[in-house]
Amino acid sequence: MPEKQPTEAQHPIVIIGAGHSGVAVAAGLRTRGWEGGILLLEAEKETPYERPPLSKELLKASAPDQSTVLRKEKFYQDKRIDRLAGLTVDAIDRPGRTVLLSDGSRHGYHRLVIATGSRARALTVPGAGLPGVQALRTRDDALDLKRVLVPGARVVIIGAGYIGLEVAAAAAAKGCEVTVLEFQDRVMSRVTSEPVSRFFEQLHEQNGVRFVFGAAVTAVEGAERAERVVTADGTVHPADVVLAGIGVVPNQELADGAGLQCQDGILVDGDGRTSGAGIYATGDVTRFTSATDGASQRLECIQNALAQADRAAAHITGQAPAEAEIPWFWTVQHGVRLQTAGVRHPDDDAIVRGTPEDGKFSVVYLRNGRLAAVDTIAGLSDFRPARKLIAQGARIDPSLAVDPGTALADCVLADCDLADAGLADAALADAVIPAAPNAKELP
Ligand SMILES: Cc1cc2nc3c(=O)[nH]c(=O)nc-3n(C[C@H](O)[C@H](O)[C@H](O)COP(=O)(O)OP(=O)(O)OC[C@H]3O[C@@H](n4cnc5c(N)ncnc54)[C@H](O)[C@@H]3O)c2cc1C
Repeated sequence: MPEKQPTEAQHPIVIIGAGHSGVAVAAGLRTRGWEGGILLLEAEKETPYERPPLSKELLKASAPDQSTVLRKEKFYQDKRIDRLAGLTVDAIDRPGRTVLLSDGSRHGYHRLVIATGSRARALTVPGAGLPGVQALRTRDDALDLKRVLVPGARVVIIGAGYIGLEVAAAAAAKGCEVTVLEFQDRVMSRVTSEPVSRFFEQLHEQNGVRFVFGAAVTAVEGAERAERVVTADGTVHPADVVLAGIGVVPNQELADGAGLQCQDGILVDGDGRTSGAGIYATGDVTRFTSATDGASQRLECIQNALAQADRAAAHITGQAPAEAEIPWFWTVQHGVRLQTAGVRHPDDDAIVRGTPEDGKFSVVYLRNGRLAAVDTIAGLSDFRPARKLIAQGARIDPSLAVDPGTALADCVLADCDLADAGLADAALADAVIPAAPNAKELP
């Protein structure tokens, strides 16, 4: 007699990618009472781990080579989360509701969650493939880097974003000669305002880091390995180590191949639903509509990876999600912490609270008079209230906000109707992707 095939409902929820988001979906499904199978598929072999320490603690000379695991092995056993590690998912067969793995096996899914994250954008100039040129995304990348960050090493970092700057700080602390080449005219220009950029530039320079702004890298040269980086003006920067920190690209190829709607990220709605029936996506790989200002965005941060995981788990189990959160980010450079609540736009009005020279200040960003984002340097006092006030769409009195002695909550204009501009669930529900061709099949 032929073996009885499991019905679609008996298949597990399959999650592709065991990064922050994929693991959080699995954990969230169990917390929310999902009793069926869960299968977590991951290309990397090791126990799923945290990425933020890779450019921070892990690079320190004294740090053990183990980064923090997201969950101990026992967690997966106790929660009956099956894992297959060291295999990539090569294709999604939507009509057959199965995924195809690199070992040729197929796994049926009841619901599918794509949490494939992003990868470091590749440097494409001549010589980019030479040994000694690398990016930083995985633990192996971090350990490779840690080995070569030795006193006296000439480290050239391409890109003054979060990762480039965190590595610059770690390398300088280890006695390397650090040069950061940045195309723009200031550091972190994509994510923050000029006062914050200038503060961090000075901090790095005081710690021995050298910046070259307006630098367009045209080649990496060397006989057997990278020996120098050349910029468009002909300047040659001698290098033993070259790190490209030039952003990330979403790992959306699987979704693309399966015909899901993608636009520099897999398009999802506020519940993490893609355009495909029964298929969700969460974390770095997604693009979605901001519930606060309607902007189309792709966020690369832990907060978003976890929040979207919760919303997908809630939707799959038919429950209400946790209250929506304002996105937040952090970075630590030379021991100084920058915390950001909300997403700043380049044309927001910026108000500096406190004096950057003192090393402790905030920058408040107003959009049409409403609080849109806040950067807090070396202090927590504005960060927490900011998250709440941004969610409420609070209108801020700039004349009060310039005084760091006035609590942010006390800068709210008295006639402000907080209720009409909030981060309402209705806004999230409206933040939908274009209608799916097979929308009627959606769970
Ligand atoms: C060095 C570094 C420092 C960072 N620091 C911070 C920080 O300080 N604060 C912050 O908020 N964020 C930080 N981030 C960003 C943060 O780590 C990401 O936003 C977060 O990891 C996103 O989680 P994710 O699960 O969506 O994706 P990922 O963590 O990228 O996980 C995706 C997983 O999917 C797997 N995968 C991909 N394709 C396949 C496939 N076809 N088959 C099987 N598996 C697949 C990948 O191997 C990967 O493990 C940092 C990132 C890096 C690299």
